[in-house]
Amino acid sequence: MSLAWDLEERGTGGLKEACGVFGVYAPGEDLFQVTKYALYALQHRGQESAGIALSDGRQVYLKKGMGLVSEVFTNYKGPLKDVEPVAAMGHVRYLTSSTPRRATPENAQPLLVRSRQGCLAVAHNGNLINADELRDRLEKEGSIFQTSTDSELIAHLVARYGSHDLESSLKGVLPFIRGAYAFVFMAEKQVFGVRDPYGIRPLSLGLWNGHYVLASETCAFDTIGAETIRDIEPGEMVIIDGEGLRSVQILPSERKALCVFEFIYFARPDSNICGKNIHLVRKELGRQLAREHPVDSDIVTGVPDSSLAAASGFAEELGLSYEMGMIKNRYIGRTFIRPTQKIRDIGVQLKLNPVQKVVEGKRVVVVDDSIVRGTTSKKLVEMFFRAGAKEVHMRISSPVVISPCCYGINIPASRELIGYKKSVDDIRRDIGATSMGYLSQEGMFKAVGIAKEELCLACFSGNYPIDRG
Ligand code: AMP
Repeated sequence: MSLAWDLEERGTGGLKEACGVFGVYAPGEDLFQVTKYALYALQHRGQESAGIALSDGRQVYLKKGMGLVSEVFTNYKGPLKDVEPVAAMGHVRYLTSSTPRRATPENAQPLLVRSRQGCLAVAHNGNLINADELRDRLEKEGSIFQTSTDSELIAHLVARYGSHDLESSLKGVLPFIRGAYAFVFMAEKQVFGVRDPYGIRPLSLGLWNGHYVLASETCAFDTIGAETIRDIEPGEMVIIDGEGLRSVQILPSERKALCVFEFIYFARPDSNICGKNIHLVRKELGRQLAREHPVDSDIVTGVPDSSLAAASGFAEELGLSYEMGMIKNRYIGRTFIRPTQKIRDIGVQLKLNPVQKVVEGKRVVVVDDSIVRGTTSKKLVEMFFRAGAKEVHMRISSPVVISPCCYGINIPASRELIGYKKSVDDIRRDIGATSMGYLSQEGMFKAVGIAKEELCLACFSGNYPIDRG
């Protein structure tokens, strides 16, 4: 039985979240504002809820709510504004369509608990694969959960099995959890950043006004005026406090498995992961796609925003003209996470519209970064033909998605994936394109510039790097 089948039948356990996290230790600075600005920069990683926790060195204060950072924090007048902080952390959350009932205020993060070790605030990006198992065990031992988040699970593990201080407690309990995680923890006088031993989700370290900061993506550092120092290493925990920064390799990293989808779709183009700029990687994905699937055409256009870099690379490689053939309504959120197919169909039209005068009578190449269910591509092809395009050549700057993600990206069960059920030619027919081409896996490794042994490719290959145990 393959893991993909197993995931599809049983669900992936826990929540699938690709969120954004931030942490800073900087006594005397305006940490409420700086955390808010960092969360604005990470908003693309999650639009469902937002939260900030501040510590004044004695207590931790929290404000979180449903919606965008601006919705939760504009006109905020609560206690966080009066605290004289030493440390702060924040979280933006993104949730899958398969678990809409979990989109509740209690599940917003950071999660704040008070235990015998003191205050602990937790923010998580990723998804634990043994969450159900651990939760069952803790419940049998008497733990009562108030949320369905992996963060609360960690908090219970620390409270139950931890020792006197947070640092040794985390060292003690983190080996029990399996899956993808980039955590920021905060106690009264310390901030911690931890990345799972595979390094599936990103987490970077920066320096802001002489203080250390942590963020899911480096674009948050640019926004607050911090300098990027480096990525947190897989299996590494950093501890930031009044003494500065310490690093501990808490778990051995035998195999790295950075999520390749961060490069393809998820991360912001101005961020760097592993020292590689996301925009430039996407452009190279487009160039490689053009080498593999060239096409005689008049214009190349991308699906805004995530595919524009790949479309420009595609056009440059073939010496074709790159055009703004499609406009995105920026005031509508991501359609992908809408719960039903009918709403998803309308969502694409609400969000995207071809520029008729640009595409009319032309042979158009449309580059998109990925196809998941096929909803977007089918609508796009229909819209371009309706706008008068003579031919619509669909080009995808990633390989065929065949398996769900259990590490935090919203990629649904196999049965919903068009690439799982159909051949490329059937997909072409289904979406009504003149021609169709996906980037090969080899082409993707070449463009990303990271060895395939160091990437998580589960959604493209069905091979999951973490043993379910
Ligand atoms: P679909 O319409 O289901 O085939 O989804 C593909 C479209 O959604 C593409 O235009 C992608 O840019 C975008 N996309 C791909 N993966 C995700 C994701 N995990 N969350 C939100 N949007 C996505």
